[in-house]
Amino acid sequence: MKVVVLGAGVVGMTTAYYLERDGHEVAVVERHARAANETSYGNAGGLCPSFAGPWAAPGMVSKVLRMMWQSHAPIRFRPRWSAHQWRWIVRWLGECNAQNFRRNKLRMQRVAHYSLACLRSLAEREGLHDFDFHADGTLWLFRTPQELAHGRLAALALDEFGVPWRWLEPHEINAHQPGLAARSAAITGAIFLPADASGDSHLFTQSLTRLLSARGVKLRFNTTVEGFDTEGDRIIAVRTSAGRLTADAFVLALGNQAPFLLRPLGLNLPVYPLKGYSITVPLASSTAPDVRPALMDEHNKVMISRLGSRIRAAGMAELGGYGLDADVAQRDLLLRVVREFIPTGLDERQIEFWAGLRPMTPDGPPILGPTRWRGLFLNAGHGSNGWTQACGTSRIVADLVSGRRPEVGLEGLTGERYKL
Ligand SMILES: Cc1cc2nc3c(=O)[nH]c(=O)nc-3n(C[C@H](O)[C@H](O)[C@H](O)COP(=O)(O)OP(=O)(O)OC[C@H]3O[C@@H](n4cnc5c(N)ncnc54)[C@H](O)[C@@H]3O)c2cc1C
Repeated sequence: MKVVVLGAGVVGMTTAYYLERDGHEVAVVERHARAANETSYGNAGGLCPSFAGPWAAPGMVSKVLRMMWQSHAPIRFRPRWSAHQWRWIVRWLGECNAQNFRRNKLRMQRVAHYSLACLRSLAEREGLHDFDFHADGTLWLFRTPQELAHGRLAALALDEFGVPWRWLEPHEINAHQPGLAARSAAITGAIFLPADASGDSHLFTQSLTRLLSARGVKLRFNTTVEGFDTEGDRIIAVRTSAGRLTADAFVLALGNQAPFLLRPLGLNLPVYPLKGYSITVPLASSTAPDVRPALMDEHNKVMISRLGSRIRAAGMAELGGYGLDADVAQRDLLLRVVREFIPTGLDERQIEFWAGLRPMTPDGPPILGPTRWRGLFLNAGHGSNGWTQACGTSRIVADLVSGRRPEVGLEGLTGERYKL
């Protein structure tokens, strides 16, 4: 079959990979000059199935309202005159209860663990070893008595989701991770999640792009998707800035832009951006401590990952539109958190500051598979777990395009739940 993949983020390129492997003739359309130039560029690097879960959780509404009045809060809400934003918020509010949280988390867990296994076997099979991958788990760190209590409760829930974990008292944290300045950061307890890994999604996607180019996948960069041509209930072509492309199937992996391309087709995709920031700081090799696991600082909601000879710290959640303007206060907060845990060995002369938009669904799980339009498939709405989930969701979507039954159950993962 001839298949066109729209979007060359980590989701689009992994989709193209599995489709090419299935023997299809594949083309990828991307508006930038290279792959992984938007949200897949500077994320925290966490491949964290243990963490995969919805943003819509019990207690989130009051947390967001409380933080609205703080100047340097990790969560911010900026209301807009946008029906799309308010529709999303209403749906999100409906998901912020214990019952829906559990259901949505189970759905995301199903994909996330499968996805990490898919990523590992892809990297092994293709010899992709140049994306700073390492499987050293996550250390989830708590400071205040409230966070500690929350952590102990969360640990019990991890059992229900089948996630391996170990509780660490303060004196055990440094034995576990000698380079980490946990004491000066006033850490009072931690959960170690050994099933998690870290890696650079930008480097991975770049490597995959080179591999696919060598295998004959047509990469149409600098080309903007403008709309679709239909015939009856079928999509027959995509219109782009470089002309019209016909195909048997189209997979939409356009991150935050996906809703705009679907609206003219009468499909209301509930994906809205949640802005975040990251800094990447090179390590000065001689004095840098060897901190291996990803660190999740619960207090500041910041994740810190070691990516080769760099430290990446990312966090913050701003619900307020599509702007990518940089907020220097957020950069300073990220740097302060990194310094607390890794006080020596940072080369602060070359900090890269980045902002990105997580493509969030109101309930949390991504939206995968066919739509009401024959020939149009979705791989969208990966939210804050897109690097973790990309290989698994792309394997699933490639299976569906090829008419094969995916290896994991699709309940709660397709567009059916949003009548797409
Ligand atoms: C601060 C931050 C930290 C994060 N940390 C993690 C983490 O630790 N672990 C994790 O798993 N996930 C993390 N994420 C989430 C993850 O980065 C995203 O879920 C993932 O990158 C989404 O990938 P994507 O391919 O769907 O979107 P994108 O990477 O945005 O790709 C979409 C592509 O479509 C292209 N496109 C859009 N419109 C058009 C058009 N009209 N024509 C042509 N091309 C178009 C874009 O240019 C882009 O290249 C984080 C996100 C942020 C912002």
